[in-house]
Amino acid sequence: MDDIVTRLSNMAIAHYQRAGHQPRRPTEEDIVRVRTLVAQALTPFSSNATATPTPTIPATAPSLEFRQFESLAWGLNRNMDVYEGHELLDKAMDEIPFQEIHEKAEQLSTSSSANPSALSFEDALAEALVQWYKHDYMRWVNSLPCPLCSGPTTAVGGAAPTPEERAGQANQVELHQCQNPSCGGVRRFPRYNDPAMLMKTREGRCGEWANLFTLFLRAVGLRTRYVWNREDHIWNEYFSPREKRWIHIDSCEAARDQPTLYEKGWGKKMSYIFAFSVEGARDVSRAYTLDWPAMESRRNWVRRDEIERIMRSVTSLRRAHLPAQQRAELEAEDVAEDASLTVGPHVELVPEMPRQSGSVDWTQARGEAGDLQD
Ligand SMILES: [Zn+2]
Repeated sequence: MDDIVTRLSNMAIAHYQRAGHQPRRPTEEDIVRVRTLVAQALTPFSSNATATPTPTIPATAPSLEFRQFESLAWGLNRNMDVYEGHELLDKAMDEIPFQEIHEKAEQLSTSSSANPSALSFEDALAEALVQWYKHDYMRWVNSLPCPLCSGPTTAVGGAAPTPEERAGQANQVELHQCQNPSCGGVRRFPRYNDPAMLMKTREGRCGEWANLFTLFLRAVGLRTRYVWNREDHIWNEYFSPREKRWIHIDSCEAARDQPTLYEKGWGKKMSYIFAFSVEGARDVSRAYTLDWPAMESRRNWVRRDEIERIMRSVTSLRRAHLPAQQRAELEAEDVAEDASLTVGPHVELVPEMPRQSGSVDWTQARGEAGDLQD
C-alpha cells in the first residue's frame, strides 16, 4: 500500500509540475498533501467517513520562520518511526531489567494501607521505568573528566564529528579541555542521536535522555510522545489508559505528571511545546502553563493557524491507513484533549522543585534554577 501511495504521489507531483501549475520545487508539505490525497483516494469508501477535508495549497510564499517550523515538525515526525524499529526495540529490551521494573510496578499499582492511592498498572510501569532510568541507568553530563589525568575540564567549543561519531548520528561534538595547561588532554563529547549508540554511552543531557527514553517507553508497550520545547528542553508523554489522557514524563528529572514543573519549578518562560507520536502531532503548549496569556504573548515565531495546519497534515498522514474505527477513537481523544487544553495543565499538586538535572552553575546560566535564582 505504501509503495503504491509513493508511486502514485510521485506521478501526481510530476504531472502537476509538467502542467506548469507549480513552478517552484514542491515543499515537503506539498508532497505530504499529495500523499494524503492519494492515500485517501485509495481507502475504501466505507472506511472513509472520518477522512479529513481536502488540504489546499497556500497562495503566498511561506516565511522563513514558517519554513523553519515546517522542517522541524516534519523532521521530528519522521523521527518517530525510528522508535518502531524491531532491531532497536529488541536492543532496548535487553537493556531494561523487566522483572525488576514489573515487580516495582506491581507494588505501586497495589492498594494497601501504606499505598492508598495506587496507580493503574500502566502509570506504575511508567513511574518504575523513569525511576530506574534516572537513578540506575543514565548519567547526566555537565563537564567531563580529562581523558589523560582525570582532572576537571572546561568546555572550549565544538569540532566536526569524525566518521565514527557521524555513524552514531552525532552532528555536533563538544570539546572539553583539561584545566591543567601542562596536561593538554581534550575530551570529545559527541552529541549522539542514534539510540543504539546511546545505549552504549548511557550519557548526555536532556536531548540524549529524552531520545532514548522514547524508545524505552515504546519497549515496555506504552503509547509514547516525544515533546519538543522551543526553550531548549525535550521530554516525553505517555498515554494512560486509566486516566484517558497523555501524561507528562521527564526522564532527566524522574518526574511524572508534573506539567507545571518547568514554569513553576524552574521559572522557565516557555512559548511553543509540540508533541509527536506515531499517531500524529499536536501543539500541547497550553498543557504546560498556568498563565496562557503570558505564554501567548511570547509566541511570535509562527502563527497558530499555520501550526495547526502542519499538525493536521502530519496527523492525517499518520492516520491515513488506519481502520475507520481506530481513526474515530483517535479523533475522540483529540476532541477530549482540545477541551482539556483550553483549561490548562492537569494539576492536582503544583510542584515547586527547582531543576534536579545539571549542575547549579549550568542551571543558573539557563535561568532554570527556580527559587535558587534569587
Ligand atoms: Zn588532564
